[in-house]
Amino acid sequence: MFYAGYNSPYGEALTASGFEKRAGIDHKEKKIFPYCFACQQIVFTRGTISPNMSDHYAHYTYDDSVDPMDYCIESNAGKNNKYLKGLFTDGWNLENGILLRNEFFKEDNIKRAYIFCLKLCGTGNFPLSTFERVIKRADAKNIWSYKNIPVWVIPYILLLLTDFHESKKDYQFRFILNKPSKLPLQNLWIKNEYTINKIFSDSGADVRYGSKSIDIDTYLDLSKDTAWLSDSFVNRLLELE
Ligand SMILES: [Zn+2]
Repeated sequence: MFYAGYNSPYGEALTASGFEKRAGIDHKEKKIFPYCFACQQIVFTRGTISPNMSDHYAHYTYDDSVDPMDYCIESNAGKNNKYLKGLFTDGWNLENGILLRNEFFKEDNIKRAYIFCLKLCGTGNFPLSTFERVIKRADAKNIWSYKNIPVWVIPYILLLLTDFHESKKDYQFRFILNKPSKLPLQNLWIKNEYTINKIFSDSGADVRYGSKSIDIDTYLDLSKDTAWLSDSFVNRLLELE
């Protein structure tokens, strides 16, 4: 990746060469580090003195115990993961990310988000614990700070972050975006031509009737049935914040 935050995941975006110039060659001794905007972890500079490599940042290697879905989307491991490689942005809006997350947890939005995911997964296949897991993954990937993400798109993205269990028929499924993998996420929904597809986790084959259009009218229609949620359940949704 070409930009990282100067000494903070909210720091000024600098290239690897720009970082070294500002922080000095002894930046590690001074405890000044570049931070990834996505996973908010410390990264390191590469290629800053090599004539054969353009300067960039790299992530530290993950050990085998890390679930691949927890790889940073900006890391090489994340970029090489077939489920993560299309999940990238070409720009960060860190201040908006905080506002968007707050917006997502407003009562009407969180209720709609839950109902939307439940509709697409099917009754019995989207327990609260799963909702919590994908929100945590969204936090760890800082999806909220992707450029130009409206609040209604977030639930589509959450569905991409884990496998689900079909409880009656006992199989695993997941969702993928039907879009060119090199297309960044922003503006994905503007053209009304992309879909989210439900597939069997093992074979990758499409689950019948599992394709849904990515547009606001589809979202509002699939998320409207929130009236049956009990007050206590809504409180549990709000507590996920
Ligand atoms: Zn990262």
